[in-house]
Parts: sequence; structure tokens; C-alpha cells
Amino acid sequence: MLLSRFPRVSLAHLPTPLEYLPRLSEHLGGPHIYVKRDDCTGLGTGGNKTRKLEFLVADAIQKNADVIITQGAVQSNHARQTAAAACKVGMECELIFEKRVKDADDAYKNSGNVLLDRIFGANIREVAKGSDMNAAMEALADELRAEGKTPYIVPGGGSNTIGALGYIDCALEFMYQANRDGLVIDHVVHATGSAGTQAGLVVGLKATSSNIPLLGIGVNAPKDVQEEKVWQLAVETAEYVGAPGCVQREDIVANCDYVGDGYGVPTKAMNDAVMLLARLEGLLFDPVYSGKGLAGMIDLIKTGYFGKAENIVFVHTGGVAGLFGYSSQLQL
Ligand SMILES: *Cc1c(COP(=O)(O)O)cnc(C)c1O
Repeated sequence: MLLSRFPRVSLAHLPTPLEYLPRLSEHLGGPHIYVKRDDCTGLGTGGNKTRKLEFLVADAIQKNADVIITQGAVQSNHARQTAAAACKVGMECELIFEKRVKDADDAYKNSGNVLLDRIFGANIREVAKGSDMNAAMEALADELRAEGKTPYIVPGGGSNTIGALGYIDCALEFMYQANRDGLVIDHVVHATGSAGTQAGLVVGLKATSSNIPLLGIGVNAPKDVQEEKVWQLAVETAEYVGAPGCVQREDIVANCDYVGDGYGVPTKAMNDAVMLLARLEGLLFDPVYSGKGLAGMIDLIKTGYFGKAENIVFVHTGGVAGLFGYSSQLQL
């Protein structure tokens, strides 16, 4: 497995730091908690989609695209990073938003990620909740081709085999850091949504025989649906990088008990986790993904899922701009 075989553009500040959280670890009475700071990838306030976009945008350039199309929720971190990436390589960006969250207020509709999308000059259109987003992107691509443009479609969350390469890269990066620092990682935890992060990480961890278990905390779908989605993409990604068969079905573990009332709907546990990390470690997490992932990890620590002496790495996937879109829904 050699990632340099794949076209890539530099968009992220890498490597991101791997930091120990002494006050959180002490507060919980163990395990030792580390955070892989992929909130610090740098592009347009950073986050996990930037690593994926390094490979996706390179593919778009190879295909002579001049406009990137993608989709997501209104407060999509993926859309925001894609809009920024398009600017950096001189392409246009078309965003299609699904009105996935009901009763959205002004901050949700205009602040946070959406504000940044507009600053990046992206063209935005909205479709109703439950729309076929892939069909909407294809229809828009046809429209743009009719205007003489060359569109490139990035799937929601940047989650396909090309995007997942970014998270193989992340796994290799923190294993290098752990080897360098003499850190034995016992478990890796992160928020899982469109599956590219988990699929990439599991391929990276398995293809190198690291023997590090990976746990995705779901933010959207039920466990069986989420694991199946990750599994499909992990199998395809392993083949794509020339390591077919390195991932087994039982390597795909998602815990979807912390979704609450649905995607993008705040939970009390998320709120508590965001406030706790801010006040103990000066660290910000987002309401939709990393905050729920953190809430799940903290609850699993309290209920004894992890050994007290273990070293856990939580991959901070970013999304902090989303806090502003949710400002009125947070209990401070
Ligand atoms: C998209 C996103 C995730 C989930 O990553 P997937 O690859 O879609 O599973 C997690 N955290 C944040 C902040 C995100 O924006």
C-alpha cells in the first residue's frame, strides 16, 4: 500500500498534532485520552473533509474539471471545506443542501458553515428533506455541461474510495507519531457519518497489521445500516489501494446509541461533552459530529467499555464552525 501512487494536491496542514488531554483523563479517572487534531487541517477552519479533498480535488484536476459539485446538510462541514478547496485550485463550487433539519432558525440558515460557504463564493441551492441528492447532483452536472462547463461530482461527505485515501493517510500519520513517541494506542474512536473516515482508518489500521481496534460513534443511521455502509466502502477501498481482503466484517464497529432524536439534533450528552472539553482543555468540538462522538466516548468510558489504563486516541474530525450555526440551541 503506497499512497504516493495516487494523485494528490496539498490542501491540509499536515501532520496534525497528536495531543494528550491530561485534565480530561484525570477528570474521568482514566483511560489516558489523546486527541488527533484533524480539526487543525487548516483549510477554511479545518476538519476531516480536507484530507479526503486532497485526493478528490487531484482527481478533479486530472479530469480537467472547472466546477465542483457536492451536497450536504445546510450546516455541512464537508460543503464548507469543499468550497474552500475549490477556491484554492481556481474552480467554481456548486453546493446542494438538503433541508435535513426542521425548525431551523436564522443562525442555522445563515451563520456558521453557511456564512463561510458564501464568503468562499459558492453557489448554493436547497432541496427538500428526503430528496435524492445524487440525482440532484447529476441533474445539476447536466445543466452545467450544457453551459459548456466540466463539472466534477464529489459525493456527500467526500466518501468514496478516492476520498477514503485521506483517512488511510491519517491512520499512517498517527501510527508514525505513536511509534516515534513510544505511545501504545489501545483504541481509536471517532464520529462516523458518511463512512469515508471510518473506512479509510480501518483499511490503514488493518493493512499495516497494527492490531488497533477502531470504534465509530454514529451520528445518523442505526448500527446495522452504518456498519454495512462502512463495510462496503472499506472493502472497495482496500481493493483500490492494493490490499484486498485486509479488512474483515468484524473490524467494522459502530455504536449508534448516541444519535438522539436524529442527525443534527442536539442532545444533552453532546452539550455536556462540548462544555466539558471547552472548560477542562480549552478545546472546541461541534454539535453534529465530534460533540456526539465525544459524548459517546465519555459514556463508554464511564460504563467500563475501555480499560482504565488504556491509551485511547479520539480523532477530532473538526466542525467547530458549526457551533455558530447552533448558537441558540446550546445550553451554556
Ligand atoms: C463529516 C464529518 C464527520 C464524519 O465523517 P464521515 O467520513 O462522513 O463519516 C465527523 N465529524 C465532522 C466534524 C464531520 O464534518
